[in-house]
Amino acid sequence: MRRHVRRRRKTPALLWLPLLSGVVAFVLPLLLVEYQRHPVESGPEPPAVPVSQSEGKPLGQTGQTLMVPQNDVAITVYFHEQGETRTVLLEQHLLGVLAAEIPDSFHLEAVKAQAVAARSYLLSKSGTGLHEGGADLCTDYTHCKAWLPEARYAEKFGAGEEAARALYATALRETAGQVLVYEDTVAQTVFHAMSGGRTESAVDVWGSEVPYLVSVPSGGEDQFDGYETTVDLSLSAYWEAMAPLNPDRELAPMVVLRRSAGDAVLRCNVGGVETAGTEVRRLLGLRSTKFWVTLNGDGVQIRVRGYGHGVGMSQYGAQVMALEGAGYQDILARYYPGCRLQQLDP
Ligand SMILES: [Zn+2]
Repeated sequence: MRRHVRRRRKTPALLWLPLLSGVVAFVLPLLLVEYQRHPVESGPEPPAVPVSQSEGKPLGQTGQTLMVPQNDVAITVYFHEQGETRTVLLEQHLLGVLAAEIPDSFHLEAVKAQAVAARSYLLSKSGTGLHEGGADLCTDYTHCKAWLPEARYAEKFGAGEEAARALYATALRETAGQVLVYEDTVAQTVFHAMSGGRTESAVDVWGSEVPYLVSVPSGGEDQFDGYETTVDLSLSAYWEAMAPLNPDRELAPMVVLRRSAGDAVLRCNVGGVETAGTEVRRLLGLRSTKFWVTLNGDGVQIRVRGYGHGVGMSQYGAQVMALEGAGYQDILARYYPGCRLQQLDP
């Protein structure tokens, strides 16, 4: 859900103070100032569940049984690359989702957490029929969840194909029929690659409150490549990319107005136009909204932390936990607080 915010707002005089003092007109465009107009809103305190304390939490309890026969779940999927809608079996489709979505180098417990999250996500969309041909889901990763056809396993995994297939199948088998529910509804367990140290809340990213998609700590991700990346752009390339926000091509600084508890840019001002961090991410093709823009010689350097929208389970965070000995239930408890694991009716 991307919001275009293009309305111009009267900029408070205070906002311009750091810019006007001692700055001549021609340097003004080059100035990139991070100015916090509002205090960072931390939102609801995340009910973080430390790994060692997940026992006895709602997760893992099996209460009511959902009336969905696990072996018979059919979902309608729009395969965007082929441009066709087909009805497929859930577990079969999940194999391709895991193969596409989580590296085969990951620990089994992280992959099991991913299996439950992906199964829950797919089921939460069951019956929505909002895609082409009345499909509930699609295979476009930018919209729903990616999916890798078996014919492409060899190309992706090479000599490790059999091991990868076994890993994903084991994760599915050892979590067979398990889904996360919140108040008796299958949870919309979105996930992403790497949070950058702390996940984002659904309300900050998509504007709607989801009780179990809140910001939680996700430490240890900095041991992996890609935790922090930099993008170097010439000034002209930078302004060109930002032109949709700034159609008059006013050369003006970017001012960050508000960051989330996890450091993601929520609101910023580009040339007098207030917009969302997600919009800047899209325009600049950044890996996440956790970015910092600075001048670097004749260009702009953008430091980016994490990868993805940041909501729900961080896959690399799950890997950190698994390597430290956590089980998949601990991982799910951390990233989807308040949800419980439930067995589908066999
Ligand atoms: Zn979709």
